[in-house]
Amino acid sequence: MTRSTDLIHALSFDIEDWFHMQGVEGLDDHDNWDSLPSLVERYTDEILQVCSDANVRATFFVVGWVAERYPRLVARIVDEGHELGTHSHLHRMVTDLDRDEFTSDLKRSVAAIEFAGGAAVRGFRAPSFSIRPGTEWALESLVDLGIEFDASLYPVARNGSGYHVEPGGHLFELESGGTIRELPVSILPLGPLSTRFSGGGYLRLMPMPLIKWGINRLGARDQPTVVYLHPRDFAADVPTAGLPPKRRLAATIGTTRTKQKLVELLRRYNWSTCGDVLALATSDAG
Ligand SMILES: [Zn+2]
Repeated sequence: MTRSTDLIHALSFDIEDWFHMQGVEGLDDHDNWDSLPSLVERYTDEILQVCSDANVRATFFVVGWVAERYPRLVARIVDEGHELGTHSHLHRMVTDLDRDEFTSDLKRSVAAIEFAGGAAVRGFRAPSFSIRPGTEWALESLVDLGIEFDASLYPVARNGSGYHVEPGGHLFELESGGTIRELPVSILPLGPLSTRFSGGGYLRLMPMPLIKWGINRLGARDQPTVVYLHPRDFAADVPTAGLPPKRRLAATIGTTRTKQKLVELLRRYNWSTCGDVLALATSDAG
């Protein structure tokens, strides 16, 4: 049995630009993206520096569209010893696609990321954790393309659209009879108030004592926490001019403190890639 103080947590980054945020009118047309100011390179550099200073490896789920435009950034991620994943090519919700559309987008992203990085894409995370009941074919497509693990499931119902799945890393059984390694996003189990706490806007918003309490609470059950952050989570200068007021607040809140929080978490706990954490979890399970 692993002591919680020795537990290895999963560190991950979804490498996308600020204009890849979901549900904002005008940002969903990818023909416009090249005309928008970009922050992905600058803040991924910052993320890589924080990881290097802490001597920690992470999983970088890269949007294929970003890999096509910033291939040297992907090469640097690989050079520094990190693990590559894909975060799709055009950052569309799985629930908005059919299986053929999903598979061709996935193939395009894998080709772009592997060409840029010169290393294999090992994992997948769906935009907005959007694999839901009824879209399990997405997991079958991952297996068909040789992708080893998924990190897309949100293990509680949110607006009726989560995925009822066990928390922590495990083998997910597919309808076709195969399995895929699954690392769901971490949830703070507070009954009806259960919530994410360890990534994106949640990590930005929540005070450090609450984040640590959550990590320790999951750790007491031998469950690693999955931290997931985006370059824009570090960007106090994220462009917000065209966003509705509510989204403007959600995009900027806490951005000035993200780096400091990450540095502190990396110092306090043990971290590795999603692939490493899953290897430990699924070997325990036999
Ligand atoms: Zn995303």
